Amino acid sequence: MSWEDKIRKVEPYVAGEQPKEKNIIKLNTNECPYPPAPGVEEAVRRLAGDSSALRLYPDMDATPLVNALAAQYKVDSDQIFVGVGSDDVLALCFLTFFSAGSKEEPLLFPDITYSFYDVWANLYRIPFRQVPLREDFSINPEDYLPAVTGKKNCGIIFPNPNAPTGLELPQADVDKIIAGNPDSIVIVDEAYVDFGAQSALPLLEKYDNLLVVQTFSKSRAMAGARVGFAIGSKKLIGYLKDVKFSFNSYTMNLPSIRIGTASAEDVDWFKETTGRIVATRERFKEDLRALGFVFPDSRSNFVFAKHPDFSGADLQAALRARKIIVRRFSKPAICDYLRITIGTDQQMEKVVEALKEILGK
Ligand code: PMP
Repeated sequence: MSWEDKIRKVEPYVAGEQPKEKNIIKLNTNECPYPPAPGVEEAVRRLAGDSSALRLYPDMDATPLVNALAAQYKVDSDQIFVGVGSDDVLALCFLTFFSAGSKEEPLLFPDITYSFYDVWANLYRIPFRQVPLREDFSINPEDYLPAVTGKKNCGIIFPNPNAPTGLELPQADVDKIIAGNPDSIVIVDEAYVDFGAQSALPLLEKYDNLLVVQTFSKSRAMAGARVGFAIGSKKLIGYLKDVKFSFNSYTMNLPSIRIGTASAEDVDWFKETTGRIVATRERFKEDLRALGFVFPDSRSNFVFAKHPDFSGADLQAALRARKIIVRRFSKPAICDYLRITIGTDQQMEKVVEALKEILGK
């Protein structure tokens, strides 16, 4: 075997473009168009005058951040795990919870979903099965129940709302999936839950095999700081910490812990900002509908839309020519859809104007 044969070869996840040019309307990676909570700016200012923030190792348990989240979500601190964005948390979850996967008991997730899941599964060599969505892009909970399908699994993960469709799975269906899988860990990836969907967090009272993962990247306007977290039973969080501390103790840097804490402490800002984005989204949906677009009814901070008369590639290119960047995926079932992040009202008005021009309306 040559040295090259001994290497673990993987096909990496391809993230949305971060353009270098200026004056772009960037609606391709679901960032928040508003600044983070005012306390974040203050925390950054204080950091500048405190050299110990960089000189010393950070608190490896990110205690102030964990405590602020515990207070907001009314759970115990030992029910929370924080990481460097939810990608970090999810990658550790795959390693911790799904390693027992086999061909007979694969990991289950939807066939159209966050395209990092199959990358992590391949990285850790976890066999997986991608469960088809219904025609309307909804998840059928029955497809995840061993009692119905006659097939076992080593775990289940899905985003709620799903990405990139934006569709919410009602809480009763989430409950059904967890209840029907007492021998598996079920992860609900709630990256987009803060824009009007119902969280699975209340189900933690009933199930100790449920883990809810959320992020500061969208609803808290902090994608650049890389902060994500998981909430689950003390037992699950304990196992996750054991793996994290077997890998790298100091993942989250001290500035991120401090500014994350300032953000988590400002619940009013959080509610106001997510409310604004939801209001813009609903107006944008009406505009899209009037232009003839079709789309699943998004509960997230993006809309996943296609036009019956235009290819996704053409629309994306025409928007790009007008300095508007949106995301598109190459899978045949969804390649004609554009995933358009909700920006400010002004930005969305510009998108609508550009689309009118492109469609000749
Ligand atoms: N889950 C889903 C469904 C996502 O779309 C994203 C954003 N790419 C993430 C998790 C990861 O976000 P972050 O690492 O910024 O928290």
